[in-house]
Amino acid sequence: MNNILDKLAIHTITTKPWSAEECITKYSAAGVSGITFWRYNFETSSPRDLGNQARDAGLEVVSLARGGFFPAETQLGRQTAIDDNHRAIDEAFEAGAPSLVLVCGALAEQSLEKSRGQIQDGIAACIEHAQQAGVILAIEPLHPMYAETRSAINSMQQAAQLCQSLDNHPNVGIACDVYHTWWDPTLEKEIEHAAKAGNLTAFHICDWITPTTDLLNDRALMGEGCIELKKISAAVMEAGFKGHHEVEIFSNRWWGSDQDQYLSAIIHSFNNIQK
Ligand code: ZN
Repeated sequence: MNNILDKLAIHTITTKPWSAEECITKYSAAGVSGITFWRYNFETSSPRDLGNQARDAGLEVVSLARGGFFPAETQLGRQTAIDDNHRAIDEAFEAGAPSLVLVCGALAEQSLEKSRGQIQDGIAACIEHAQQAGVILAIEPLHPMYAETRSAINSMQQAAQLCQSLDNHPNVGIACDVYHTWWDPTLEKEIEHAAKAGNLTAFHICDWITPTTDLLNDRALMGEGCIELKKISAAVMEAGFKGHHEVEIFSNRWWGSDQDQYLSAIIHSFNNIQK
């Protein structure tokens, strides 16, 4: 029987009050099939140990969040970012994660164009290392509200152009996160386009609540907001995407709630999208 939860993965930051070990135990017991680690998880446990624990519990390690933040004013700053991304690739490798999510970065002090050039150069400087590690660098376009400091890559189309500029290298892909892309009238076309080009490597879900009171930490659980999740999920699957649907929610509201009940709510919401 095809189980809907077979394609459900959860980012550990979604249930931030839990340790990575607790996330593994709880997700596995709830029938979730994949986990995406965040680098802060490795402050207390090694990537290798956590990757093994997850697999022993029957979870697939889907990805590692996150690398990126390539733009910097100085050459030294840009090299420091590249070095840090190399370390993130090593951590993904050690955890057995086939993908590293990139929040590409931006600087309010310089033009978007300049930041985009530095992002391209930064990713290019990481490709060989990623290839050796067998890790895909997944460019995540961020909502334009983050264009000044978090990412100068703000749409699926821009991410696709960036992939193209990097010769559509097989170790570069796109992470489509509905929180950042739901507003885009070309979204479904770009999903299809990215899948056809072999670039659609990750799909992140959550919802957009009204009113949003915090630009970073007020994401909503699927079904609480205005994102057409059924429609977008269907487009992703019709495009041929076979990967996990990763729940990634930063929410002060949900972090302050009972995490066991929250996990049940996540599974309930996920099932509703698939119906
Ligand atoms: Zn995301």
